[in-house]
Amino acid sequence: MPPITTPKDRLRLAVQKSGRLSTDSLDLLKHCGIRVKSPKERLLLHADNFPIDVLFVRDDDIPQLVMDGVCDLGIVGTNVLEEAALERRTTGAAGGYAVERPLDFGGCRLALALPEERPYSGLRDLQGLRIATSYPRLTGRFLAEQNIQAQVVYLSGSVEIAPRLGIADVICDLVASGSTLEANKLRAVETIFKSTAVLLRNSREFTAEKRHALEILLRRIDGVQRAAEAKYIMLHAPKANLAAIKQLLPGSENPTILPLAGDETRVALHAVCQEAVFWETMESLKQAGATSILVLPIEKMML
Ligand code: ATP
Ligand code: ZN
Repeated sequence: MPPITTPKDRLRLAVQKSGRLSTDSLDLLKHCGIRVKSPKERLLLHADNFPIDVLFVRDDDIPQLVMDGVCDLGIVGTNVLEEAALERRTTGAAGGYAVERPLDFGGCRLALALPEERPYSGLRDLQGLRIATSYPRLTGRFLAEQNIQAQVVYLSGSVEIAPRLGIADVICDLVASGSTLEANKLRAVETIFKSTAVLLRNSREFTAEKRHALEILLRRIDGVQRAAEAKYIMLHAPKANLAAIKQLLPGSENPTILPLAGDETRVALHAVCQEAVFWETMESLKQAGATSILVLPIEKMML
């Protein structure tokens, strides 16, 4: 069979078809100005205004598709990526990949969790137990690093019911808010891996067309991620308190100061804040004499 190759002039990006990363992955493309329709029956969709095709698959398949070069890029959680990379290392089939960008969504942690009634005083208590997980290699690596002998029981899903079914004593599973654990009367005791979504690429040399497209895509992703937290803030300030007010603005440099018509004692201040602006900040600004405080979202940012 001839090797599967991606087109010479269009990037191929793998994203999760349906699940926790799907909406955020498509939103990121949308914010980058890339038009792709949502997947219905079709597996591969072409963006009509950017040289990129999007392949919709299960998230577990994404690392392999990128490592094998079937796709140039993929959006996947580092939990799935690292598990796949460890598997490839043990089978000797390591394919070249690189993480291009961490993304600001898909945050979760892989944690060891115990039935609520089981006493726990430290990792030593795991010695000799059975641990159910969908991440046998990440779990195994953690146990080896901690010098703990325990039996890893692989389950592809519904890991949280394993203790009740009597097939494991504890579990090692993904946690975001902890509500699934609570519903199953489990409590997280140790985080073994912190995960976030990333943009992954195949590390082989791209054609000039693809390199150019990737450069633009990365610049846009950086612009979107930078703008996500940033806010544009406008306020009126007494000239006498200007220094104190500037100090209160989170992550802003060189605000614009404008005169206010018919007011000698006050000015208008406009600034880009690189960090989130919380109610507390606005209340402190008010206390420092600021009025007419407006905080506006920023859609895109290119520095
Ligand atoms: P698929 O059908 O694509 O295999 P899945 O059921 O394995 O889907 P999801 O539950 O949709 O996967 O989770 C996909 C990814 O989202 C996870 O691997 C992880 O990186 C991330 N994620 C973020 N928050 C959570 C969470 N609370 N629980 C599970 N995964 C989360
Ligand atoms: Zn999956």
